Amino acid sequence: MEMLKILFASPEALPFVKTGGLADVAGMLPRVLAAAGHSVKVALPHYSTIAPELTIGAKTDIAFDLEIDDKPQILTLNRLQSGYKGLEYLMIGNDHFFDRPALYIDPKTGLDYTDNDSRFIFFCRGLMELLIKIDWAPDIIHANDWQMALLPTYLATAYDDDPFFAKTRSVYTIHNLAYQGTFPAESFPLLGLDENLFYPMGPFEFYDKVNLMKSAITYANVINTVSERYAVEIQSSDEYGCGLEGVLRSRNEDLFGIVNGVDYDEWSPSKDKFIPYKYSLSNLAGKKKNKIELINRLGLPVRENIPLIGIITRLADQKGLDLIAVAADDIFALDIQMVVLGTGDKKYHDLLRKLETKYPDKLKALLTYDNEIAHWIEAGADIFLMPSRYEPCGLNQLYSLKYGTPPVVRATGGLADTITDFDPETGRGTGFVFEAYDPEEMLEAIKRAVNRFAEKRQWRDIMKQGMRSDFSWKASAAKYIDLYHRALAKAD
Ligand code: ADP
Repeated sequence: MEMLKILFASPEALPFVKTGGLADVAGMLPRVLAAAGHSVKVALPHYSTIAPELTIGAKTDIAFDLEIDDKPQILTLNRLQSGYKGLEYLMIGNDHFFDRPALYIDPKTGLDYTDNDSRFIFFCRGLMELLIKIDWAPDIIHANDWQMALLPTYLATAYDDDPFFAKTRSVYTIHNLAYQGTFPAESFPLLGLDENLFYPMGPFEFYDKVNLMKSAITYANVINTVSERYAVEIQSSDEYGCGLEGVLRSRNEDLFGIVNGVDYDEWSPSKDKFIPYKYSLSNLAGKKKNKIELINRLGLPVRENIPLIGIITRLADQKGLDLIAVAADDIFALDIQMVVLGTGDKKYHDLLRKLETKYPDKLKALLTYDNEIAHWIEAGADIFLMPSRYEPCGLNQLYSLKYGTPPVVRATGGLADTITDFDPETGRGTGFVFEAYDPEEMLEAIKRAVNRFAEKRQWRDIMKQGMRSDFSWKASAAKYIDLYHRALAKAD
């Protein structure tokens, strides 16, 4: 096998920082690639929120000036060996840009930091320069989401003729098309590119604004999203393509879908260090104990024989919370209990608080971010609800399968690719799937799940089919390696 030099660039990565599923991917995929014998460096911003104990052993290797908006900024590189052979972290620091209380959103305003353009231009431009300075020319630059979009773009523009990058090719992964990195036209000069590249319908222009993701879709050698279904959906309509469907269609030949894997060392009920009782396919007894302990901890009345529905999510429109808002009274008319763990839009915080007051014996809303409780809910809930409007891949439905918590999902993106609807005729299926983004359809699917839950033997069968599923990274990593070879086959 040919060993590849892979630069994996991400705005967040476990074990350092996480706001969403991308951090899980950036934590695991590079490890699996390195274990397969490749030489991998993960580049990420050295945010001040990263716990210092996670960066023990990092050494400042280099510092140099980079001009952004005519102001020199010092870029520092902290190199950190990962403990895994073949995997190193490049942590790119700058106090002005990365010493902040949060990653992308200013807690003071609740809005994006106003200089998010400068911050990630600095990161991407700096990273390209850094690679030259440390004399490491990757075969593949694998850039993720809008924050890293400028890497494939710079490779194809500012560094197009640079012999240092002559053999380097780019792969661009879209984890969520709804966040594109759009900025006012006045931001374009910050990029340091030929101003002629900004023109109507050009690689950067999007309704008079600068759109960084559009540029990466245009310039990357190969593009992918995190499920096959989402790759098709985003080319099909404005609703899914978020205005970029035309550009995506124009890259149809180079656009693929690879479903994310799961870190089963973290997310398996037989190994989970956060849950009080471990359990497995062959011994499910612990699951019920986890449920009782969870319900006690939540302060809900313990009613073992009615299903506990779990939700873990960002509280954003994407995740189907408006369906829940409409269907809430019908849902709580059922003999169920529910726990929601999530943070996000204020309107959904308010909604959940209101519902909690209205249904104190049935609903507990934990409006916080808490990884430990997330594990508990996967283990303690009976049914997982994920009615997303769109879902590039989704991880929680995959965790739910492993934890014997059959999910109710909408047939979109990764949810459609990974969950099969239970068919009472054949007894086959891992969850309950509904098609239209409609509160009635969601309610029907929840009712189907609740009714099945009462059929103990059948329910166990559904749980076990899910627990047997295997979405480990191995298969997905192999697909990424194929994708890298596809990119490498592209002419300069
Ligand atoms: P997205 O990336 O769109 O937010 P995913 O399902 O792909 O959705 O990944 C979400 C990840 O974030 C999962 O690992 C999930 O457990 C975690 N998560 C989301 N909200 C919370 C929360 N409030 N507390 C703990 N973990 C959360």
